[in-house]
Amino acid sequence: MLTKSHDNIKVDHKIESCETFKHSCERLIKKIESYILNNNNVVKHKQGQFETFFNDFITVVSISHRKVDLLFMRNIHVDKITETVAISCWEACYYLPEDILNGFQEAAKTEESPLGKSILNQLIENAELAAVENRPYCHDTGLTVVFAEVGQDVHIEGGDFYEAVQNGIRKGYKEGYLRNSIVGDPLLRKNTNDNTPGVVHTKLVPGDKIKFTVLPKGGGSENMSAMKFLLPGEGVEGVKKFVIDTIEAAGGKACPPIVVGVGIGGSFDKVTEIAKEAILREVGSHHDEPHIAELEKELLDDINKTGIGPQGLGGSNTALWVSIETHGCHITALPVAVNIQCHAARKKSVVI
Ligand code: SF4
Repeated sequence: MLTKSHDNIKVDHKIESCETFKHSCERLIKKIESYILNNNNVVKHKQGQFETFFNDFITVVSISHRKVDLLFMRNIHVDKITETVAISCWEACYYLPEDILNGFQEAAKTEESPLGKSILNQLIENAELAAVENRPYCHDTGLTVVFAEVGQDVHIEGGDFYEAVQNGIRKGYKEGYLRNSIVGDPLLRKNTNDNTPGVVHTKLVPGDKIKFTVLPKGGGSENMSAMKFLLPGEGVEGVKKFVIDTIEAAGGKACPPIVVGVGIGGSFDKVTEIAKEAILREVGSHHDEPHIAELEKELLDDINKTGIGPQGLGGSNTALWVSIETHGCHITALPVAVNIQCHAARKKSVVI
């Protein structure tokens, strides 16, 4: 019997005896092959490439009494993970994303300070030169933060997933001639000379792919980020005050114009995680909830009224964007985190 639920195919197949096992398997493979050919939506498969199919999509076979369960999963080798992370490291450091470049262009049009305008134009020129010459946009190529959204139907083969990611960082920073900025022991302060360890966040998602997002995070802006537990009664006004206080304390040290990621809710750990996710949102995209989108707009206005300006030298464009992510939280708590992203707002996403 052949049944399909979501992307998995389950095959029940009778095995009469050990002697007939090989024959049974052959019949089973023919059955799967005809199933695949008749169900183009499952996987694109051409006749004569069945072996390739088996290499790319493994079958987890559990053989119990008179029954074969066969689960289709996609094989991804650790070497592919290492290669993907490596390329993403240097691509992120060389090529500033389009939404950030557009943000610079818009800011340059509206900037009231002549010096601020000139700085914004220099940032645009710097980004263009970095891209043309394949050089890092900023000397600080950051702490490498890697977000991995791993499909539930993926099987990692050939080694350890986390080691593969760290190897990718090592390879990317070496081959891309990126500055190594990481010390191993935070108190002994010895540079690891390969920019590892990076910080890896993994999330299980439906599907048979892995999406990597590499975020080389500059030290200056990360150092000026902050988290606080507010009292629930402090509400929206309390959140706004904390965000503005954090941005004012950062001043020019966070290398403005900045992108501000705000996390509201969750726990001690969750609130900082969603604040970091918030800085990955595209400049120009608002939260789906209207009251949160409204808060994003109000905060952007208030931050730009501080007068900190590009590079902290005064002006009307301190932030390019404010993104907020929220999470449910305890009745006694209102945690808020502000993750500041500098003008080197680098990010690179790849799906494998
Ligand atoms: S904080 Fe950002 S812009 Fe400033 S030096 Fe570090 S990476 Fe460069």
